[in-house]
Amino acid sequence: MSLLDEVTQANHHFITHLPSSFSAINKLPQRKLAIITCMDTRLVDFLEPALGIGRGEAKIIKTAGNSVTDEFDDIIRSLLVCIYELGVEEIMVIGHHACGMAHATSDELIDAMLARGIAQQDIDKVKAKLTAWVDEFHDPELNVVHTVNNIKNNPLIAKNIPVHGLIFHPDNGEVDVLVNGYEK
Ligand code: ZN
Repeated sequence: MSLLDEVTQANHHFITHLPSSFSAINKLPQRKLAIITCMDTRLVDFLEPALGIGRGEAKIIKTAGNSVTDEFDDIIRSLLVCIYELGVEEIMVIGHHACGMAHATSDELIDAMLARGIAQQDIDKVKAKLTAWVDEFHDPELNVVHTVNNIKNNPLIAKNIPVHGLIFHPDNGEVDVLVNGYEK
């Protein structure tokens, strides 16, 4: 069975077994919170329950390595919608230990792309941005602090929004606060 078949079959089972108590909910984040975190698979079904955050309560923005790469990247764009359209009043950047981005290098990525037939000229177009993003990530904790500062210092983000920085343990669910956004 293909993965697509597995997923659509699981979906059929899911919707036919939805509890009668299930009801549609509002799209607005009930706890007025936006979380920026990593796409790491170990966080799926684990990060939110570990923080007591349920369905409908927060906007979750995921990227590889939870980094802000420029003043109008996808994280900033999503935060603008969160803050100015969806009522978000607080932001948490949540990195995690053993993040794959800490060991990734632009050279390895580029070699793998070339091996898959990606044209050198197309890689060259993004090489500076790729290198700045991948090769700057060495330590997940420092990266969280860096991302918090990038968001706080972005001129488009309202100054009265606390931006916290946390680090998550993907094996046991423990979280540590690196930056308390209430402290100015
Ligand atoms: Zn990661």
